[in-house]
Parts: sequence; C-alpha cells; structure tokens
Amino acid sequence: MTQPQPLLSVKKLVKRFPVKGGLLRRTVDHVHAVSGVSFDLQAGETLGLVGESGCGKSTTGRLILRLIEPTSGEVKFEGRDVTALDNEHLGTLRRDMQIIFQDPFASLNPRMTVGSIIAEALIIHKLAKTAREREDRVVELLETVGLNADHMRRFPHEFSGGQRQRIGIARALAVKPKLVICDEPVSALDVSIQAQVVNLLEDLQEKFGLTFLFIAHDLSVVEHISDRVAVMYLGRIVEIASARDLYTNPLHPYTEALLSAVPIPDPTVKRQRIMLKGDVPSPLRPPSGCHFHTRCPIANAGACRGEVPELREVSPGHWVSCHLRG
Ligand code: SF4
Repeated sequence: MTQPQPLLSVKKLVKRFPVKGGLLRRTVDHVHAVSGVSFDLQAGETLGLVGESGCGKSTTGRLILRLIEPTSGEVKFEGRDVTALDNEHLGTLRRDMQIIFQDPFASLNPRMTVGSIIAEALIIHKLAKTAREREDRVVELLETVGLNADHMRRFPHEFSGGQRQRIGIARALAVKPKLVICDEPVSALDVSIQAQVVNLLEDLQEKFGLTFLFIAHDLSVVEHISDRVAVMYLGRIVEIASARDLYTNPLHPYTEALLSAVPIPDPTVKRQRIMLKGDVPSPLRPPSGCHFHTRCPIANAGACRGEVPELREVSPGHWVSCHLRG
C-alpha cells in the first residue's frame, strides 16, 4: 500500500554554526549541530524526537520552521519546499506550523496581558474582523486550554509554570495550525504538572486533528504521546521506529542506554541501568565514523571508528544506524 504524501518531509537536513575568532572575527571552526537528518511525518501523527541536550533536536525543530536557516537539505510541508520560500509565503506557512517553547515564561512578553499575547497572532494573521470577535476568540482559546475568561486581563508572572505553558499552547492554537513543534514543552515543569500538560496536548490533537513533532530529552516523556520515536545523537538520527517497537525492541546501543534510565511502574520488574562512559563529545569535533563509538559499550576498532553507519530499515518501519545491530 502506498503511503499518502507526508505533511512534513525532512531530507538530509544539515546545520553548521560558524565559530568566529581572532581580531577580524573570521570563521575559525564550525559546530556540527545537525548532520543529515531525514524523516517524514504523516498528518495526525506524533513523532517523538529524543536525545541528550546538544544533540541537535531543538535546532532541527527551528530549521523546520525556518527560525534559523539550514546549511543544506530540504524541508517540505504539504509538498512545498519551505527552504525556498520568500518572506511573504513564509508568513502564510507560519500559520500552519507553530511552536510551543520549553520555557513558557521566557517566551511570553511580561509587559503584555495574556489576552494581548494571544490576540497578537490573530491580528498578525488577520483572523478576526473586529475587536469583539478577537476577544471572543481569546476567551474560547483560554477555555480550550483549561483557563478562563478572567485570565485574559492578567500578566504572565501571575501564573504558575503549568498555566503559563497553557497560555503558550493557546497562543500556538490561535492561528489553527496543522503542525505543532512541541520543543520540550514539559521539561521546565514539576513532574506532577507534566502529565497534565501532555494529556492536554493529546486531547487537543484529537479535537483539532493536529500533527506533533514532540521534542524531549528523555524517553519516558514521549512514550505515551508518540506514534513513532526518533532518537538523535550528536546531530544524527540513530534509530527511528514505532513507539511500541522502540520501547520493546530497541536496537541501537544508545537507545538501550536511554531506555534503561526510564522508570518501570511495576516495582517487581527490574531493569539494569546502562551507564555510558564519558560525556557527549563536542559537536565542534564529532568523533569519526559512528559518532557514538567513544561511548558505545560494544564498539569495535574497525568499522565503528572508520565508517559512518547508514540508517537502514531492518524491519518494516524500524530504522537503525549501527554496523553491528539489525
Ligand atoms: Fe556502537 Fe559501532 Fe553500532 Fe556505533 S556502529 S553504535 S559504535 S556498535
């Protein structure tokens, strides 16, 4: 059966940030933030994108939205090449693709009321004809995310972290997007609040038919919300599979290590924690061959150091980038 055209298609996406130095501020080096990332996202699907801090997952999200420009590669949204759009067309596309940030406080203007923050998007995209219509829509959005009409006259600092994230979600929903990039939306929240926000996002997805790219730094957060999960390490996707496959049959040694840190609710089941040696190497000088070879418990001195493992499909929909697995 042929797959329908994906809502989002990312191919060989690369981002290198120049490092300036010397008196003349010349480019002396590059940070290899994203190195050839490819994946598709079907309408209505949630793809979890997971990896340690600095692995390039948030940069990938920003490249898709063109908040930063890619060094090379392709991003297609509904078949249109996002990387080739001029500013006018990019503005229209930004309605369809929204982002929810990790730190809801930093992303909300402290001098604006919550009502003005949400209404701003309606004004920019001309989505309400009159002030009355705009206010009605703001109230509707606040109620949709579990807040109420009174909240629109208050300022961001009057809210808890969880409520602020709900305001960020309402702002993203104001323009009726198709794709929402959730960039670690619960990482800054108390554990007790995290589940509430994830449940809210799931409800909203069902209600509005949203598609999510859900970025997180650990596998426990994305387990229940994701249809598929991609694991990133030092700028590359090392494994991508359905959530069920990835959690029950992880193939890449890095995925195994991340998974070993996920708590199991059943206290009778014990999982042995895999402690990786060393720290994540600098993206200024990623290791040769397989980027993971300096920390991999099963690396060999030959292919692992010398050749970049291809991302191969080892069973339907399950892709892994490892010389020894799959
Ligand atoms: Fe480990 Fe080698 Fe596989 Fe990389 S290619 S994950 S170093 S076994």
